[in-house]
Amino acid sequence: MRYISTRDNHRPVPSATAIDTGMVPDGGLFVPESVPPLDLPGTTDVSYAQTATEVLRPLLSDFTEVDLAECIARAYNPDTFDAPEVIELVPLSQRRFVMELWHGPTAAFKDVALQIMPHFVKVVKRKAGEERHTVILVATSGDTGKAALEGFKNCPGISIVVFYPEQGVSEIQKRQMAVTDGDNTHVVAVRGNFDDCQSGVKELFGDVELKERLGARGFMLSSANSINWGRLSPQIVYYVHAYRMLVARGELRAGDPVDFCVPTGNFGNILAGYYAMCMGLPIRRLVCASNKNRILADFFTGGVYDRNREFHRTMSPSMDILLSSNLERFLFETTRHDASKVTAWYRELAASGRFTVDDNTRAAMVRSLVPGWVDEPRVLETIGKTYDELGYVLDPHTAVAVAVGEDIRERDEVPMVIDATASPYKFSGSVLVGICGERKDDEFRSIERLHELSGVPVHRALSDLRAKPIRHDTTIGPESMKRTVLDILGVAA
Ligand SMILES: *Cc1c(COP(=O)(O)O)cnc(C)c1O
Repeated sequence: MRYISTRDNHRPVPSATAIDTGMVPDGGLFVPESVPPLDLPGTTDVSYAQTATEVLRPLLSDFTEVDLAECIARAYNPDTFDAPEVIELVPLSQRRFVMELWHGPTAAFKDVALQIMPHFVKVVKRKAGEERHTVILVATSGDTGKAALEGFKNCPGISIVVFYPEQGVSEIQKRQMAVTDGDNTHVVAVRGNFDDCQSGVKELFGDVELKERLGARGFMLSSANSINWGRLSPQIVYYVHAYRMLVARGELRAGDPVDFCVPTGNFGNILAGYYAMCMGLPIRRLVCASNKNRILADFFTGGVYDRNREFHRTMSPSMDILLSSNLERFLFETTRHDASKVTAWYRELAASGRFTVDDNTRAAMVRSLVPGWVDEPRVLETIGKTYDELGYVLDPHTAVAVAVGEDIRERDEVPMVIDATASPYKFSGSVLVGICGERKDDEFRSIERLHELSGVPVHRALSDLRAKPIRHDTTIGPESMKRTVLDILGVAA
């Protein structure tokens, strides 16, 4: 399979190059030249690893079977995921299911991709005969940082440096990162907000002098963000596997349609669902659920993508995003690979913060996707109601999806699968308010109380967090990020 740029500004490359390069150097994202069809018949009773092999083999066709099998085996096993099939599919009510994607080491769905991506990177380096030491730089507003640290820790030939805003992540998220072990992990708090971290990291990637100095010492910089095909492709797998689980349980006959409802931020998760659909998985529609930062819902409804709007901090911070990077891939696919249109829109976006798509494009988008959004009181109400009536504890991100799913659901027979993207314990404070109105100052106390009330076992990533020693406590100003990277790598001034 060859990968092409959404802006037609790069020659086609094999998947290894797409993974190694991340985004297209002159702007644009790599997408598969064509989408390989999936062979669905005889689908029941296969392991997650088998589904992963079937989905990934045609997409990463330049990987050898042995390499791919090893990546999959190392990523998805009882040590990394505490669910026998990696994901859990929990019935919520008549024809509704929650797909728990958070059984990995950090309690967020990003583990599914970030447990395997480092193995892809190792294979790609080996294939290319790359001898330089790779330095992964990450700016995080919370979940990505810890998931990337856990994925890359102790990977030979690779180091990882994570920058997070000192005041911009929760106590739990901060602690999760600060206790990370491994001999190649570095965590740095930045006095500033997430934008400072992100633009700081972008500057480091564009810094020619830094690149030369690091190059001279045998280092190269790389990233692990969600526009990398190595992070997107593993997410296609759980859509296919969830479908197979439903068939195996007799909830569906092979070929019957299903809906997926996805709490969306950067548009990576839902885009993976869209690719599953293009590969032939019988998805009737994908529900794109947003919180109060409803830029995507407005876009799919009115055709105007407009970043010039107020930014809201919500209880679902991983969805507080005004620039959904992976949307570009969806636009490219729904315009049937019209790179000139996509290029014009993104040029407009860079210049004015907005762009408008034509009616045909908008109509094509909403053929497969239904948008919706909910505000904060509705999220709390949904957490409370779902607990009271169904005995299931939702995290705030998943609650957004459940609420939007309720709003758009018709009285029909098509089952709906709701993507659960975080363990409720990761956001215990808000969850506690939702189920009983109690508000605690201390997040650890919230975890204990939520456990007392619900009886749900505390996720292993959070149960022993308080007892673990702090290993990272560096705080810097945003102007010192370059200096810090050089210091960490031992490159003298
Ligand atoms: C990252 C994240 C999301 C958003 O996923 P996208 O792929 O960026 O749309 C939703 N919920 C949680 C808990 C996350 O960590």
